Amino acid sequence: MGKKAAEFPLAQPQLLAAAAMHAYVRRNVQRCTMSTKTQIAVIGGGLTGKAAAVASARAGFETLHIAPAAPPDRRTSALMGPSVEYLMRTRLVVDPATIGVPLKRIRIIDATGRLLRAPETVFLSGEMGLESFGWNLPNIALNEAFAAAGQTEANLATREASLARAHREDHRWSLTLDDGSEVTADLLIGADGKGSRVRQWAGITVRERKYQQAALVCDLELQRPLDGESVEFHYPNGPFTLVPAGGLRANLVWIDKPEALEAARQSPDTLARLLAEKSQNLFGQPRPMTPTFIFPLSSLSVDMAGKSAAILVGEAAHAFPPIGAQGLNLGLRDVEDLDACLAAANPGAYGWADAVARAYATMRAADLGRTGAFVDGLFTSLLSPHLPAQMLRSVGLWGLKTFPPMRKRAMAFGLGK
Ligand SMILES: Cc1cc2nc3c(=O)[nH]c(=O)nc-3n(C[C@H](O)[C@H](O)[C@H](O)COP(=O)(O)OP(=O)(O)OC[C@H]3O[C@@H](n4cnc5c(N)ncnc54)[C@H](O)[C@@H]3O)c2cc1C
Repeated sequence: MGKKAAEFPLAQPQLLAAAAMHAYVRRNVQRCTMSTKTQIAVIGGGLTGKAAAVASARAGFETLHIAPAAPPDRRTSALMGPSVEYLMRTRLVVDPATIGVPLKRIRIIDATGRLLRAPETVFLSGEMGLESFGWNLPNIALNEAFAAAGQTEANLATREASLARAHREDHRWSLTLDDGSEVTADLLIGADGKGSRVRQWAGITVRERKYQQAALVCDLELQRPLDGESVEFHYPNGPFTLVPAGGLRANLVWIDKPEALEAARQSPDTLARLLAEKSQNLFGQPRPMTPTFIFPLSSLSVDMAGKSAAILVGEAAHAFPPIGAQGLNLGLRDVEDLDACLAAANPGAYGWADAVARAYATMRAADLGRTGAFVDGLFTSLLSPHLPAQMLRSVGLWGLKTFPPMRKRAMAFGLGK
């Protein structure tokens, strides 16, 4: 060491920098030349990607989860009973009571001020013989719980990277990651969100409709508790929803024109005034407890959720405005069906991954079509300036208020049954 230092008279910091550069180059050259073979590659580290990676590994398949680091998701998700039961059955969540709040009632208040207004309608979980419709769970806690479940799976490896390119030849997917490494996989699972590139590489046709509305979310402290009740005020530009988050806390999801949301975000006084006004002063003066985040809204559907040994889960396959709390619930049903298709697969058979993708597409078609049409119909009928659509909506809500069988059917549908 002393001799080398005499031969190359570099000062200590320069030596350290040279050594670090050498290690960096070696690591990256290794990455560039490294090629990994796996049975299943799951792309995307959102909630459906994490759940799908755990499901694939548990089904006995060597799984590589490719997910870049992401900022914390500060939203919460209202998950209905069947979704929570699935999470508990698969031990992705051990006890929802330790992280969330039960949803016992849903109140819809027509605040459109229109001529044809719908009556105020309350849905009680007790009418369905349930203690609660489901749970309101913070996405940060769900992400942590899903990641912890993945860490104990021997078949599951993770790579903190993005998928840059993919193509399929000889019944295998060849993937190039943005760190330069190469991966081959039999089955590709796209959990890469609305802008899914897996969808594009698999040749799956997408229909997307961008809305003129956006959603503002933040946590609020109210002066009167919601007590397990989710309250939706329906305004002509979209609903203003308060979801119980325990005690005096509520999660706000406010859908409106982006310029109105941006103006409220820029001025604390405007925000405070609008929060009280929009909640009709029923909860005193709501006080923001966290920064506000704004999400652009669109709806998206695909012609099939699986093709050419590629499968889409979550928002890669379906997206809609956050009304009726359906998005992640539907994403978890994707993963549940993926589970069933993988359990029935025979990885020894030629073309097994194509067969899984075909079976999955068939299994998901009805649920995706039905749920997408329901949420889109609900949203567009609320926004519609046309009298016939407004009348239809009002009559529908009257029906839901007065006819128990119709109420039960609607509640069962909302639960995803
Ligand atoms: C305001 C709001 C409130 C909502 N509330 C509810 C609710 O109460 N209940 C409910 O059920 N649903 C709700 N939803 C819907 C729910 O949040 C979404 O359905 C869910 O988060 C989608 O998860 P995902 O994993 O499919 O997609 P995402 O969370 O978008 O994850 C996609 C991931 O893929 C990664 N990715 C993208 N491209 C690549 C690539 N090339 N390589 C690797 N990774 C890639 C991204 O970095 C990202 O991490 C709400 C949505 C909004 C906007």
